[in-house]
Amino acid sequence: MASKKIEKCRLCGSDQLVKAIDFGEQYVMGVSNPSDQAQPTKEPLSLVLCTNCSLVQLIYSVDPDSVFHQYWQRSGRSEKHREFLHQVVREAIKHTTITFKDCAVDIGCNDAVLLEAYPPEVPKIGFDPARNMGIKRTSFDTWTIEGRELRNAELITQYFSLPRYKLEREEEKTKIITTVDVFPDMEDPKQFIKDMAEILHPRGTWVNQMPYLPSALKNNQLNIFSHESLTYWNFQTFRKECRNAGLDVYDVQLVGDNDSIIRVFLQQRKTGLNHTSPSVSALAKKEASLKKTMPGLFAQFGESLAINRANLKDIITRSASAGKKTFAFDATAGMSALIQTYGLAAYILCVADRDDQKWGKNISGLAVPIVSPDDPVKMSADFCLVETKASLEEAASLLKGFVSKGGKFITAMPESLIT
Ligand SMILES: [Zn+2]
Repeated sequence: MASKKIEKCRLCGSDQLVKAIDFGEQYVMGVSNPSDQAQPTKEPLSLVLCTNCSLVQLIYSVDPDSVFHQYWQRSGRSEKHREFLHQVVREAIKHTTITFKDCAVDIGCNDAVLLEAYPPEVPKIGFDPARNMGIKRTSFDTWTIEGRELRNAELITQYFSLPRYKLEREEEKTKIITTVDVFPDMEDPKQFIKDMAEILHPRGTWVNQMPYLPSALKNNQLNIFSHESLTYWNFQTFRKECRNAGLDVYDVQLVGDNDSIIRVFLQQRKTGLNHTSPSVSALAKKEASLKKTMPGLFAQFGESLAINRANLKDIITRSASAGKKTFAFDATAGMSALIQTYGLAAYILCVADRDDQKWGKNISGLAVPIVSPDDPVKMSADFCLVETKASLEEAASLLKGFVSKGGKFITAMPESLIT
């Protein structure tokens, strides 16, 4: 795999790109068999800031097919994530009437869990290039996904494109569009926003949910940075580009651990259907000096990560010297970034994951086996490393045997702590 270096900002075309942070070369998140002959290669994970439009972005793009054709996170496997996705639809429906005459589109639909939140009679279209989601068509508009049934739907195993959308809907517009953790993956975000403006119904809503960069920097959340997300957003830069395309933000929410996720609600400006929530100007005001402070925020982030890394490594190496065993939960791109950036692979016994497809394999490039949530207790593990407090809650509910035997958790972000 060869990465492609960009010379200009993906959004505004400026060549005023300055170094933000460099995580060095890392293995692209994936899952591999220990017996595989072909060894995964490392690719640069290096970020730059465009001083013209304030977009933070990777300076190298990896081949998207190598990341997305076999995708190793299934939303339906996590109760918490399922609920989170359904909440996106519930929030959109509050402001947008959708019936059997309309259409809902989810881009990056993964295993179609979000689409299940719509009433059955609403026609639904999902786009996702992943080929390992266990999706099967059972009749012309009905699908089964790991035993779940989805009716009135078309699931397209391709990247979203305007021509492919038009093949499905011709000139008909979409009442609710959802893009969850997928917009930052776009090589051409400007064109993607234009496409959303093109397909959005005059009385429709586009909900875009993605990591919120300013919160991530404040909270040492290095787990948002991976080869699959090419761009990292603040609110104002995103809002301005949408405005240029004729879309207005009418609501914005910060959700998740430490406000780490931004959920933006957009509508066609011409219709101005929904009143603008006070949260829009409040967040814009909060970001007023961001353009100036961004380079400083990255410098602080780098320093803070170095301290956090030293603390975490100290906790884990001291436990190892005392004969204690540490495993991790779970096999995400964020955990892979954490293990690689902090140099922890040698101290991690295994990674527990709920997805049986991954058991017996390794996180690509790291000699760390992926096991079932029941295995660490059989291995007499003492500590479980998790990314954040939210992942700790999920791990505790899944690793009941480990907890009942007195196992303890180590959270890595925002600070390294044993709990
Ligand atoms: Zn730019």
